[in-house]
Amino acid sequence: MRQADGRRCRHCWLASDSPVCRECQSKALAVRELRSGIVYDGPARAAVLALKHRGVVGLAEELVELSGEIRAADDIDMVVPIPIPLLRQRRRGGNQAEYLARAVASRTGLDLDAAALRRRGWWGPRQAQAASRADRSRIVRGAFAAREDRVAGRGVLLVDDVATTMSTLSEAARTLLAAGARVVDAWTAARAH
Ligand SMILES: [Zn+2]
Repeated sequence: MRQADGRRCRHCWLASDSPVCRECQSKALAVRELRSGIVYDGPARAAVLALKHRGVVGLAEELVELSGEIRAADDIDMVVPIPIPLLRQRRRGGNQAEYLARAVASRTGLDLDAAALRRRGWWGPRQAQAASRADRSRIVRGAFAAREDRVAGRGVLLVDDVATTMSTLSEAARTLLAAGARVVDAWTAARAH
């Protein structure tokens, strides 16, 4: 597995020669800073997929372990996993992001709150993947609901297994900010590209 390090954009964590990549310079950002542990290819990809689809829960600890040091900013209070649609969670027997979030919480000493954010509707990544890029952000919009009583005034570290386009993380962050969260950072085990 390759560490996702080197020169990267501090907002989206893509390889970039400047501290903020061109794409992030030109758009409003809901996620203040994303950090990822490893590059999403080869064995890292296999491990993420095994955690997601085959429920190999022990891999969550391993992935977090392999990701090196996880540093949460001083203004972050809580760890919140990206929820998956309830039907899918029942079918899989769990949410891979929640397993990762639990490991991140125990490593950083932050509280885990898996109920702060929930998924609305039925759109999942499979439907979103089939859609065009423009459609995809429209589909993700409104995909989440956040508990104001749990997030208002707090700093949130969102956790997911892999970051690709960041549309899911961005939409989750927008929802949290709209519910009163002070700031939203994100951490994923793997970064695509
Ligand atoms: Zn960027």
